[in-house]
Amino acid sequence: MKKIGFIGLGHMGLPMAKNLIKAGYVLRVYDLNLDPLHTLTKMGATPTESPLHCAEGVDVVMTMLPAGAQVHSVYLGENGLLRGASKPTFFIDCSTIDVKTATEVAHEAQKNGHTMIDAPVSGGVKGAEAATLTFMVGAGKEAFDCAKPILENLGKNIFHAGQNGHGQAAKICNNFMLAAHMIITSEAFNLGQRLGLDAQTLFEITSKSSGQSWSLTSYCPVPGPVPASPANRAYEAGFAASMMYKDLGLAAQAAHETGTAIPLGAKATDLYKDYCAQGGKDKDFSGIIEYLKTL
Ligand code: NAD
Repeated sequence: MKKIGFIGLGHMGLPMAKNLIKAGYVLRVYDLNLDPLHTLTKMGATPTESPLHCAEGVDVVMTMLPAGAQVHSVYLGENGLLRGASKPTFFIDCSTIDVKTATEVAHEAQKNGHTMIDAPVSGGVKGAEAATLTFMVGAGKEAFDCAKPILENLGKNIFHAGQNGHGQAAKICNNFMLAAHMIITSEAFNLGQRLGLDAQTLFEITSKSSGQSWSLTSYCPVPGPVPASPANRAYEAGFAASMMYKDLGLAAQAAHETGTAIPLGAKATDLYKDYCAQGGKDKDFSGIIEYLKTL
């Protein structure tokens, strides 16, 4: 049975690690926060004291960290993964980060005799809990084939996006769309309310019409229509607005570097920036509906 190290046990990483344990993998786990370590220890995982320690004796290490800076330090830092892995190790980074960091860290891993792939996800906390995530993998074909059976314990759709960094490129484009969908869905519900429409009725009509989107049918920003959406628990994250703002920054950087026009994306970035500054940063990104009402 394969031994897996898992680092980054937040909203997404904790349920993913739980699903790996349920699938029969033996886990070594690490996070700066001790609470998820206690939870997973009770399920049979071994808590560790650093990335270096977490990498000892495992075949595979998965990471689910906030951004590129954390991925850089967890892999390449003084007590980092590359120092702890004593044998050729397979690294799977599921965090959403910039393409440059993803390719640079993968290159360093390869120089040290390891394999590293980028495998960011879509599907939210609900998808992580239900093991229905979509994975977008940036890797060579052989590495993709090695990762697929592990990722199938965590997700339903495992896509090979291309070489290292292409998983992140696909994820950045996806979340760029998601931000704009969420804002326009929120604006539509605010408009519908002012026009006297019942929110449930508007949901039923638009979810069967051309306004339909994941933001509407899986993550509806008003309470009621989708019971599992954060709107039903005062916009507790979920997917924090600060994470969405980070992802929009990745898209803006990529657009700048490639000379791509993104007028709507730039406006979405400004709105998420303002929502974060007005107290929304730790709230779910769908809570932007409340901020839009204040404009
Ligand atoms: P989170 O903030 O809930 O979890 C991050 C975890 O990493 C925390 O437990 C934190 O303590 C830990 N951490 C941070 N720095 C660390 C370090 N140096 N060493 C060890 N642990 C460290 O974030 P999340 O919502 O789980 O998101 C994780 C990644 O997944 C992000 O890149 C995000 O963009 C992406 N993502 C999130 C969602 C979502 O719905 N939450 C969906 C898809 C993708």
